[in-house]
Amino acid sequence: MTGRPARSALVRSVHLGGARTRAELAEDLSLNRSTVKTLVDDLVADGLVSEHPSSGGGAGRPSLVVDPIPSAAWVLAVDAAVDWLSVSAIGWGAAVLADLDYEAGAGPDPADLVRRIADAATELTHRVGSAPRAVCVAVPGLVRSADGLVRVAPNLGWTNVPLGRLIGEAVGVRCIVANESDLGVVAEHTRGCARGVDDVVYLFAEFGVGAGILSAGSLLGGSGGYAGEVGHMRTAAGGGLCSCGSNGCWELSVGQDALRRALAMPEPATPSAIGRALADVAAAGGALPESYIEALETGVCTIVTMVDPRVVVFGGLFADVLRVPSAMARITEGVGECLVGRQHGVELHVSGLGRRISVIGAAELAFAEVLQRL
Ligand SMILES: [Zn+2]
Repeated sequence: MTGRPARSALVRSVHLGGARTRAELAEDLSLNRSTVKTLVDDLVADGLVSEHPSSGGGAGRPSLVVDPIPSAAWVLAVDAAVDWLSVSAIGWGAAVLADLDYEAGAGPDPADLVRRIADAATELTHRVGSAPRAVCVAVPGLVRSADGLVRVAPNLGWTNVPLGRLIGEAVGVRCIVANESDLGVVAEHTRGCARGVDDVVYLFAEFGVGAGILSAGSLLGGSGGYAGEVGHMRTAAGGGLCSCGSNGCWELSVGQDALRRALAMPEPATPSAIGRALADVAAAGGALPESYIEALETGVCTIVTMVDPRVVVFGGLFADVLRVPSAMARITEGVGECLVGRQHGVELHVSGLGRRISVIGAAELAFAEVLQRL
């Protein structure tokens, strides 16, 4: 491997794997040292990396560590959630250069959100001292990935909002828009507990229930971008009416409101209040009601059987549920007994990326294109 493919591979390796010596890069990428030297010299000349002697090592000439210069190429990563807005400047190598968090989330008026993101972009451009290479926005809705049209975002009251075009025009760079669950699986695949695994399901519950699915290394989108809307699998024949217009949806038995009822909490209960109640159950060595656990187990086993993942990562309120040891034991047992689980091990993990998971995923999706051009 030489030329542009080799440069792209080296750039991606430094971005994901962090600073390393030239010798380590040569070994990790199966390139010869003279090729790595030429590539690194070019990146230094382009102002993308710096080199400094490694601190460790024995006698002889110290080897040079190749370090990304984060501000040399950065992206704007936005989490436009129902209850908060976060706009971050993420440098290549994943360094957070600056970020702005707002208590007020994305509201019913898309134009207001576009204006706030454009203002944040101006502020962050000033702080970093250069312009972003791309923007990626996480939204709680169904998105047409080709042009960033938000088809429907029920919790924001949006239908057919051309968000990618509006933000792209306002900020002046390409804008990618993606569903928050899809960005969750991207984040877990690149920076979380599913690094290097190409078949991953990220299962997420907050206001709604959804999944991001990575199959053979590619995001599963479906013909209309609806793949992964597992909250709306029909699991209870004749069950109640769902906000999506269908009935018997899985979300009704395992989502935020079902959890509130399972924990005998009065209305209204925010996701963070439910999270705290679940932490109390975990600390007391308690268990969730059988009806809740059975519904969760049924859905997880259905998804595992359909998708055949190596790793399932639980995020949002599902992370809080799976931190209850009795719940983790029960779901582990159920998955182990289903068809796929009997063929090979399926690892179950609780996400460790916390609330910034969408920002992490948004930065990585934006960088997937930006790094190709560095
Ligand atoms: Zn539904």
